[in-house]
Amino acid sequence: LICVENVSKIYPFGPQEVRALDRVSLYVDEGEFVSIVGSSGSGKSTLMNILGCLDVPTSGHYYLEGQDVALLRDGQLSHLRGDKIGFIFQSFNLIPTLDAVENVELPLTYQRMPKEQRHQRALWALEQVGLSDRAAHRPSQLSGGQQQRVAIARAIASSPSIILADEPTGNLDPQSGEVVMEILHRLHRQGKTIVLITHNMEIADETDRIITIQGGHLAQQQSAS
Ligand code: ATP
Ligand code: MG
Repeated sequence: LICVENVSKIYPFGPQEVRALDRVSLYVDEGEFVSIVGSSGSGKSTLMNILGCLDVPTSGHYYLEGQDVALLRDGQLSHLRGDKIGFIFQSFNLIPTLDAVENVELPLTYQRMPKEQRHQRALWALEQVGLSDRAAHRPSQLSGGQQQRVAIARAIASSPSIILADEPTGNLDPQSGEVVMEILHRLHRQGKTIVLITHNMEIADETDRIITIQGGHLAQQQSAS
C-alpha cells in the first residue's frame, strides 16, 4: 500500500543544508498499524509529510497504491490526499472561528461534496468519536482531548483508507490520550491502515510494528511484542 524506496530529504538552509532523511525504505501493508519512534529532530515529521503527500522527497521514490506520487499532477495529488489519507496533528490544527461540525466539514468542502451530504457526513464522523453533543462548540469551548477527537472526526470524514497521525497524544493528558488511542485502535479493527508517530513506548508497543528512526536513518523494524 505504502512503499517508500531510498527516500532522502534535504532541506536547503542558507549556505548549508539539512539532511533530514537519508535513503529510507519502508513498506506498510494494507490494514497494518505501524508506529514510528525516534528522538526529536530524527526526521519523523519529515517522513510523515512525505507519506501524506504534503512534501516531496529530494531523491528516491514514493509509491502509494502502486502509483509513483512524483508522477501525479497537482489535481490528482490533492484528490489522492483528500480521498485516501486522513491527517491528525499534535496541535489539532482546528479553525478557531468554526464550530466542531464546520471544522469536520471543511475538507469535504474542498472535495466539492454537496452541502447537505457534507453535513450528514460530518455529524456521522463526530458520532464516531463520541462528540455528537459537541457539534456546535467552537474549539475554545472544547477540552484538548475533545479538540483532538474533532480532528480525528475531520480526518475520517472522507472515509480515507490511510490515517497518518503525528503525535496525536503529545498535547493530551494520559486519560485523553487513552481515549484517542482507543479510537485509533477501533479504526484499525475496522480495516484502516494507520501510521502513528509517538514518543510514548507504551503506546507504540500496542501497535503491530515499531519502526525506529535515528538521525534520518531507519534503525530497526520489529514486531511489537
Ligand atoms: P520532533 O520529534 O521534535 O517532532 P522530528 O523527528 O519530527 O522531530 P523533523 O521535523 O522531521 O523531526 O526534522 C528533521 C530535521 O530536519 C531536523 O533537524 C530539523 O531541524 C530539520 N528541518 C525540518 N524542517 C525543516 C525545514 N523546513 N528547513 C530546514 N530544516 C528543517
Ligand atoms: Mg515531528
